[in-house]
Amino acid sequence: MSTISELKELLAQPRQIFITTHHKPDADALGSSLGLAGYLRKKGHHVTVVTPSDYPNFLAWMPGNEEVVVYEPRENDAQVRDIIGRAEVLFCLDFSCLNRINELGEYIRHAPGKKVLIDHHQDPEQFADLDYSNSKAAATAELVFEVIRDLGDQELIDTGIGECLYAGIMTDTGSFRHPSTSRNVHLIIAELLSAGINLSDVHRRIYDSHSEERLRFLGFVLKDKLTVLREYNTAYIAITADELRQYHSKTGDTEGLVNFALSIEGIVFAAVLIDRNQAIKISFRSVGDFSVSDFSRRHFEGGGHHNASGGISREPLDTTVDRFLSLLPQYQTQLVTAPLAAAPP
Ligand code: 5GP
Ligand code: MN
Repeated sequence: MSTISELKELLAQPRQIFITTHHKPDADALGSSLGLAGYLRKKGHHVTVVTPSDYPNFLAWMPGNEEVVVYEPRENDAQVRDIIGRAEVLFCLDFSCLNRINELGEYIRHAPGKKVLIDHHQDPEQFADLDYSNSKAAATAELVFEVIRDLGDQELIDTGIGECLYAGIMTDTGSFRHPSTSRNVHLIIAELLSAGINLSDVHRRIYDSHSEERLRFLGFVLKDKLTVLREYNTAYIAITADELRQYHSKTGDTEGLVNFALSIEGIVFAAVLIDRNQAIKISFRSVGDFSVSDFSRRHFEGGGHHNASGGISREPLDTTVDRFLSLLPQYQTQLVTAPLAAAPP
């Protein structure tokens, strides 16, 4: 962990700044990037946010969205390489390994500017000059808030920046229900409320702005695609590329599916496996002691957090599902339903 004075020194004069985040950015990835970008622009820096891929429409309300450069290898590779090459400071937010952001990762690794990592995933790769990672943080947006506050600039967090950060914390804590929802998180939300954020608007923009088609897709998935394995307290959903096409599935439409599988009483391990053509993308979630980050690291080239992780498989969907199922018996003793604390009297 670097000291805040090192960052203060680096930002003491107006800089060319590049900010990026992980592939298929979620609300924490984009919210922490645009929140930080809004702050740095107020400090007089020249900031470009580049995402390694497109992101869901329900994030497009975030201030600064119009200036985001979405990296498209066949369209703007030269432009993005130029931005990276000219950057004096490169912020990497909400991911911990450069190999998770395709070609961009290598461009960043070889960039001449100073690299700053702000992230909350486990086992960060050591590539940054300054590192403000903390795997105990609920969200990268929480860490971005703290960095701005510790730089002595909390009063620069306005409603727009605050709503970006709020969106990241809200979604990564599962709307303040995961065990990562600390006292610190709630104190930060109190500060964001003082900055004027409208939390119900943010909630509606993110959770209640889906298409009708997405809801019908959800209905189909829950009715026809969900498998519950009581002997392993496990539930999973496997979706083919054809099914995605049939429902005109767009970026973000499958987000949150895995939580439905986990919402069944007694289920402690949930997986969603989706055929994305180039590879099978897998999301894992758990409640309690079973570590899905260990599971995905060990078996699916993945990682993430103790209770939320992801990985990939390069085999066909049905082979991947068979392999997933064949792994469960060796974890059976760990896949036990987490007892709830006794209800208060
Ligand atoms: P999601 O299921 O929402 O895509 O991802 C859950 C968590 O696991 C996120 O924190 C994400 O960064 C991490 N994650 C998802 N896919 C991968 C992967 O392929 N590799 C690694 N190392 N982490 C992943
Ligand atoms: Mn995050």
